[in-house]
Parts: sequence; C-alpha cells; structure tokens
Amino acid sequence: MGANILYGKALADTILTGVAEEVRQLKAEGVNPRLMTVQVGEDPASQVYFSSQRRWAERAGISCEVIQLPPDTSEATLLKTIDDLNRDPAVNGIILHVPLPSHINSKRAQWQIAWEKDVEGVTPYNLGRLLLGMPRLVPCTALSAVELAKSTGIDFSGKEAVVVGRSDIVGKPCALLLLGENATVTVCHSFTSKRDMLEDHVRRAEILVVAMGRPQAIKGEWIREGAVVIDVGMNAVDGKLVGDVDFEEAVKRASYITPVPGGTGTVTVAFLLQNLVKATKWQLERGTEGKE
Ligand code: NAP
Repeated sequence: MGANILYGKALADTILTGVAEEVRQLKAEGVNPRLMTVQVGEDPASQVYFSSQRRWAERAGISCEVIQLPPDTSEATLLKTIDDLNRDPAVNGIILHVPLPSHINSKRAQWQIAWEKDVEGVTPYNLGRLLLGMPRLVPCTALSAVELAKSTGIDFSGKEAVVVGRSDIVGKPCALLLLGENATVTVCHSFTSKRDMLEDHVRRAEILVVAMGRPQAIKGEWIREGAVVIDVGMNAVDGKLVGDVDFEEAVKRASYITPVPGGTGTVTVAFLLQNLVKATKWQLERGTEGKE
C-alpha cells in the first residue's frame, strides 16, 4: 500500500490565512509589518526564493524588500547595515541571506540581528529559548518539518524519531522540537555515515526527518514500514529539484511522506511570515512596556 502524500499547501494555506487576518488587524491599528532581506553579492538561486517569498508576503499583505550589497562589502559595513535595521522602528523582521562571502564571519553577522527581529530564528537568544523549551522565534524550516509531521495526527510520545543532519538552522532545531513532542530522538550526521551506521538508524525510525542536502541518499528500502518521512532536502539535479530521500521506493513503505518539491518549502515561507507577525507584536509590546 502506498503512503499518504503530505503536501505542504494545505498547512501553508491555513497558516497564511491566519497571518493575513493578523496583518489586517495590525494595519487597522496603523502598523504595517515590514520584512527586510540583506544579501551580500549575487546568488541567482536566491532570486527564486526571494520572488516566492515576496509573492506569499504580498498575498498576506506584508511588505518585503531586499537590500543588495556588493560582494566586496566589508564585515563592518554589513554589521552597521544590520544595526541600522535593528534600530529602525519601521522594520519588523530581518533576514540575512547565507552563504556570505568568505571574508565575512557568518555567525557574527547573523548574531548581530536583534532577537525580536530575527524571523529566521538564527540568533543565540532564539535558539537558546528553543533549547529551554520556551520557544520564541523558531527556525522556520525546522518548524515546517515538525508541524507537517504533526499534521498526520500521530502521537509522537516515546516514538523513535531520527533526524539526519545537525545544522544549527534545520537539523538541531528539528531534534529539539521532536524532543518537545516527547519523541525519543537520534541525530545522525556525516560521522554516522563514516561509521556506516546511517542505514541502521534510519531503519529504526518511526518518524524520519532528513536534512542532509544529498540527493536521494536515503534509500527507499531503509524506510521502516509505516514511518512518517519528512524530506527537507532540496537539491538541483539535471535542472530538477529532488529531495534527500528516494521518494519512489520510500513511498511504498512509509505511512506519510512529503514530496520534493511541494512538501516543506511552502510551509517554511508561511512560518517565516507567521514569525514576522509575532515579531511585530512583540516589538509593539516592548515599545510600550520597555521590557522583553
Ligand atoms: P547543511 O548545513 O549543509 O547541513 C547538512 C547536514 O547533513 C550536516 O549536519 C551534515 O553532517 C549532514 N550530512 C551531510 N552528508 C551526510 C551523510 N552522508 N550522512 C549523514 N549526514 C550527512 O544543510 P542545511 O542548511 O541543514 O540544509 C539541509 C538540506 O535542507 C539542504 O538540501 C537544503 O537545501 C535544504 N533546506 C530546505 C529548506 C526548506 O524550506 N525545505 C530550507 C533550508 C534548507 P556534518 O554536520 O557532520 O557535516
């Protein structure tokens, strides 16, 4: 029997409808949520992402702009640009596009973003809150992966969850969110594969989240019968977008599986915009009360 396909559109539409309603209310109070993306240098791939982000943002009534800096921009200039955005009350959310040119320390630049404008959840404050189980602005891709898995209605308590990938922005926050759902979580990474242990861990997974950036590296035959499979990977292969999971085979064994494209991507943008609305509201509260 084939798996149910977990398309992202239904969840994304629900989130975006809520976001659009909150934006309407904010606008009625004279507040126009505004999202700024800072990009250093050219990245043709990111243009696709920006235009999709802008399309969804406009649909929700959010204004969305890009500051394009030349590739030889110094780190000091970038930090100053971010600081100016931090101080600008007309800016509610800041995204710093990565990767950055190698002469810039990416972490230093990302951590310059004020936590309350950090809509991608990349700053130590927001990641620390997630670690403590008191989330504020959660990394949107991780949230998208786990909320799509939760949309199956399956109770994760005590279940074997395996996350493949341990990046700060996807794998680690996914693991923390799954822990928050009381799953038993294993995190795999490149050294798991070097010991030839990846297949063993994947075979145990009742909930499998894959964020490796390696096209179809997870073989369909490894998937546990009835597993929920969330494929976060987005890899361009021969002009097509493919995931990290061998979908054609995995779909025969999983109970639910996300397609690529059409799975986590749209939901990620929806959560990004939801984070912007949350951020805007906190900024308004802080403005009147002067506290966190
Ligand atoms: P990343 O920073 O490159 O991290 C990749 C992770 O995969 C690392 O932890 C790495 O291990 C692990 N890995 C690599 N090769 C492995 C192997 N052979 N066996 C086991 N683990 C392996 O990537 P990322 O930013 O987390 O993104 C992951 C994927 O998600 C990419 O395809 C990206 O395009 C996609 N993505 C999707 C969305 C979305 O909205 N759907 C958003 C962001 C990213 P080490 O730590 O040991 O190196």
